[in-house]
Amino acid sequence: MNKIVVGNHKMNLRPNEVEAYLKALKSLKSNQVIICPTSLYIPFFLKQGYLVGIQNTGTDIKGAYTGEVSPNQAKELGVFVTIIGHSERRQLYHETDELINSRLKAALKAKLKVILCVGETKEEHELLKTSRVLKHELLADLDGVESIGNIVIAYEPIWSIGSGLVPTNDEISKTIDYIKKVVANKYDKEIRVLYGGSVNDQNISTLNKINNLSGFLVGGASTDPVKFKKIIREVVKK
Ligand code: PEP
Repeated sequence: MNKIVVGNHKMNLRPNEVEAYLKALKSLKSNQVIICPTSLYIPFFLKQGYLVGIQNTGTDIKGAYTGEVSPNQAKELGVFVTIIGHSERRQLYHETDELINSRLKAALKAKLKVILCVGETKEEHELLKTSRVLKHELLADLDGVESIGNIVIAYEPIWSIGSGLVPTNDEISKTIDYIKKVVANKYDKEIRVLYGGSVNDQNISTLNKINNLSGFLVGGASTDPVKFKKIIREVVKK
């Protein structure tokens, strides 16, 4: 299956920068590239024909949830996928596995695809608790979810996000296998897994050699069109 590259812009880029970004990326539209801009900018990317993701979606289809975006609203607007359980949501906004599970179920109900993020902290990594943490997150976040057909997992070690620190290919590959094993035990199906954490135009050719990966979730480097294009070229050419 073709690998994908997902760009997560988080809360970056001013309106005039988005305009410049769209101009710079123009030649690189692909069904293997998904851009998750700040929600306000989603219509600009849709209008240009990009495959668009949203960085989070609500626990319900509609209602009194100030500040939230419904997965139905996103789907009806043309959004393809939602990121759920990003570590910044878990850590900065204290999103629990229970909340993430309800966001995930609502998104599937709205027929959005889901990128479910899981990953361990630096401390958990050092204490060799990675497998335990991942298993707990996966089972809790997928609790009551009947099918994984529309879900992709993003393995994002929290200590790697935005830090410039990246696990070795071997470490990533072993962790990906572990994630696949946990999910296969529950569903008897192989799930696709992305890697995210300090992926950039310098390390992408090395990371792209990991053969059990289905692609990459890119934060910081995806906001720079020159770097993002290099990453896309490396991954999408395969
Ligand atoms: C992310 O936040 O999902 C991410 C991978 O960020 P970065 O690439 O900046 O580490």
